[in-house]
Amino acid sequence: MKKLYYIDFPQEHLKGQMHKYQCSYCKVETTVINGKLEGHLPSCEYRVKLENIGYEAEAKKAKNSPVSIDADDFD
Ligand SMILES: [Zn+2]
Repeated sequence: MKKLYYIDFPQEHLKGQMHKYQCSYCKVETTVINGKLEGHLPSCEYRVKLENIGYEAEAKKAKNSPVSIDADDFD
């Protein structure tokens, strides 16, 4: 189950920044979240709630992926 945009999360102003908003739960800026569920922290209450009811965050291209098999070629 997927939504096109995830924008129904509680938002609040960034401190001292009138035109910037952040998620009330994980404090990630809305411009960073960019309407995506995976833009929230994995621990974000909003994200966890939606994932629990069946919405899926897109798998991020893991930066910290395990060392590739190719690396084993260097002996
Ligand atoms: Zn959040």
